[in-house]
Amino acid sequence: MNEYDSERMADLLASSHGLTPVEDPDRADVLILNTCSIREKAEDKVYTQLGFWRPLKEQDPARIIAVGGCVASQEGERLRRRAPFVDLVFGPQTLHRLPDMLDACLAERRPQVDLDFPDLEKFDRLPERPGRNGPTAFVTVQEGCDKFCTFCVVPHTRGREYSRPMPDIIREVRQLVDQGVVEITLLGQNVNAYRGATGLVGEGDLASLLERLARISGLQRIRYTTSHPNNLDDRLIAAHRDIPILVPHLHLPVQSGSDRILRRMHRKHTVAEYLEKIHKLREARPEIRISSDFIVGFPGETEEDFAATMDLVSQVRFDQSFSFKYSSRPNTPATRLRDSVPEEVKDRRLAVLQARITSFAQQYSEAMVGTFQEVLVTGPSRRDPAEWTGRTLCNRPVNFSGPAGIAGQIWSIGIEEALPNSLRGRFGSPDMPVAASGRA
Ligand code: SAH
Ligand code: SF4
Repeated sequence: MNEYDSERMADLLASSHGLTPVEDPDRADVLILNTCSIREKAEDKVYTQLGFWRPLKEQDPARIIAVGGCVASQEGERLRRRAPFVDLVFGPQTLHRLPDMLDACLAERRPQVDLDFPDLEKFDRLPERPGRNGPTAFVTVQEGCDKFCTFCVVPHTRGREYSRPMPDIIREVRQLVDQGVVEITLLGQNVNAYRGATGLVGEGDLASLLERLARISGLQRIRYTTSHPNNLDDRLIAAHRDIPILVPHLHLPVQSGSDRILRRMHRKHTVAEYLEKIHKLREARPEIRISSDFIVGFPGETEEDFAATMDLVSQVRFDQSFSFKYSSRPNTPATRLRDSVPEEVKDRRLAVLQARITSFAQQYSEAMVGTFQEVLVTGPSRRDPAEWTGRTLCNRPVNFSGPAGIAGQIWSIGIEEALPNSLRGRFGSPDMPVAASGRA
């Protein structure tokens, strides 16, 4: 989501002030730090980075330094006190006011702070998206969260749930497809809680948004992230069965395999309910891969609770997933829970969990060796620009040599080798492209 927000900031400042991105901070007139406060020592990282930028400001006092995102919204005025050379401070909901803030700062020659939570006027104030080169794009459709899990800072930094109206989203996706985008990822902190105005009467859910987007000609893949298990209802499960361009991959964070910990986390579902949903999903779309997020070392997590998480991982056989050590976040209820888990215990549990998740991910990769996979060619490989890189339906990177001019196309690629984080493929299989334009 921050990547999307950063892109939109760049679009805004390009259209308002003609600013263009530069690689080297020494050459920048405006330096913007977009921050995330979801975990760990986010604030420390921000102050460290600002420490690197301070000499640049001293060299050229006319240079503007801005801090946006959730750390800005959490730290507020404190940020200006600790780093007085910062000129602009804005939260994730006021990034659209960046051009005005910049003007005010230049005119009044004094710092500007705007940490408002306006009722999401943000999306109405952003300029049209300029042409981008890549075939994939993010589109934010929902923001904020009303769930208040006890460990999580999101409801405090991103605010309450808000869904963009469907016609706005459809317009944005059409425009992206016209520019050559073939895969979109719909974003939201709780994307499956989406309920947006349909443009006619009333509101529609994520399943109806997906149905409408799937009708856009030229769009070939849809993903969405990230979802809460409680909002995965039968309609959305049916969408996984009925919409072919919805990829057979779902990221469905579960956090823990212990009902006792899920209760303390205020997740409002049990392990059995989660498993029931996975079962229904697999009935609807047998080839679907499930990935997840896990937190180890939540206050009060015993060896038994952790063993339950390990059991759940083995039962579901999650594909590539994220796992984190619990870290206490400001103003969240979990900071008041006792029985904190010692750091070394968290480290050990994280290593054990990650090893098991990695072993399942590796098994899935190895099972692909010797098969042909539908690969969207995203561009030249970063490591070897003479090679192409692309993504399978379940989002595995695949590197292979191939002819010029295939970026943005979907090809059937023979998988030859499973590496720890990617696959090696071979172009020139007897298969024809799955679809060079339009879906075959
Ligand atoms: N809305 C999604 C999660 C968004 S936050 C959901 O409900 O699942 C992304 C991930 O960061 C979470 O799934 C969680 O695993 C992790 N996370 C959030 N707060 C954390 C904390 N205080 N400590 C460790 N991990 C955390
Ligand atoms: Fe945070 Fe997700 Fe819980 Fe919302 S549902 S509070 S974003 S973890």
